[in-house]
Amino acid sequence: MTDLTHRLIVGGELSDDEWRYLIEGDYEKQLLFNEADKVRRWHYGTDVYIRGLIEISNFCKNDCLYCGIRRSNTNISRYRLTGEEILACCEQGYALGFRTFVLQGGEDAYHTGEWVERVVAGIKEKYPDCAVTLSLGERPREDYERWHQVGADRYLLRHETASRSHYEKLHPPGQSYLRRMECLRDLKQIGYQTGAGLMVGSPFQKTEELIADMRFLQAFQPEMVGIGPFIPHHDTPFAGEPAGSLEHTLTMVALTRLTLPKALIPATTALGTIHPQGREMGLKAGANVVMPNLSPVNVRGQYSLYDNKVCTGQEAAEGLAALKESVAQAGYRVVESRGDAVQTS
Ligand code: SAH
Repeated sequence: MTDLTHRLIVGGELSDDEWRYLIEGDYEKQLLFNEADKVRRWHYGTDVYIRGLIEISNFCKNDCLYCGIRRSNTNISRYRLTGEEILACCEQGYALGFRTFVLQGGEDAYHTGEWVERVVAGIKEKYPDCAVTLSLGERPREDYERWHQVGADRYLLRHETASRSHYEKLHPPGQSYLRRMECLRDLKQIGYQTGAGLMVGSPFQKTEELIADMRFLQAFQPEMVGIGPFIPHHDTPFAGEPAGSLEHTLTMVALTRLTLPKALIPATTALGTIHPQGREMGLKAGANVVMPNLSPVNVRGQYSLYDNKVCTGQEAAEGLAALKESVAQAGYRVVESRGDAVQTS
């Protein structure tokens, strides 16, 4: 196993069989997690970066088969925050020590290029020392450009799966794999720190798809990678599908750290949802970011991507003191900085 991981760290190519072994082979996964932890410490020491996650709208024109806020779900009540409410979240977050704000939402037609531009400019004006990350889905290149011009630093757009046929099983016909990949390329070219990512254990996913994901990450070299288990939502076509497993997700986090030693990798909320210590285990398997929920408390329940999504306690911005404590228990340290990716040159 260490022969393979050392080849990964230096950017080497692995055969299908070698990837297959690393992903699902019968070996002690703890050794893999330890290797990943060693690599994260070379570049980031014990630092854990925090991001205040503001879920700005759960209106969505898309119909992803796995997602609870999909257009076809008529059983949730929809909300969107105003620009003032978003700024109020930032104010609260800044006081708590957050220096990155992540604005995430469904693909809400109300969010014109100009509306988002104004909100980003407002945040950057008030908090010039903070990074702004956007996660608003697929948009025309000119929107990405204008938001970057007013100071948006990073953009999260998970590729979801690097296999076109698999992508088509997770999305309705109107949503295109090639278009999503094009958006990712646009973001990178424009100069965003760009985040890709995937769900582990999504319906129809086999090891083959995960191998394609790893090869895509190796080729695309995103600065950030979000990896969480798939978790069913009761009002979606995938309601009866099993969730992705903890060990499988940790394995993919660790392999991602080895493949992209300098990446920013969150211990995701979904990981914290499937196991009470999921977040700490994610950090020990190579993750170096956590994204506590900074949305107004009264809307948090409505941003229901999947069932039982945690948004209280240490997943909440107000729980930061407790989060710092448990991060310290795990052997790391929450730092109050923008937490940009270290240069890849
Ligand atoms: N509209 C934005 C944000 C999507 S929600 C965009 O398109 O990027 C953020 C992420 O949540 C998605 O990219 C997806 O990977 C994840 N997600 C959605 N439904 C999920 C589920 N049922 N289980 C686990 N993760 C899910």
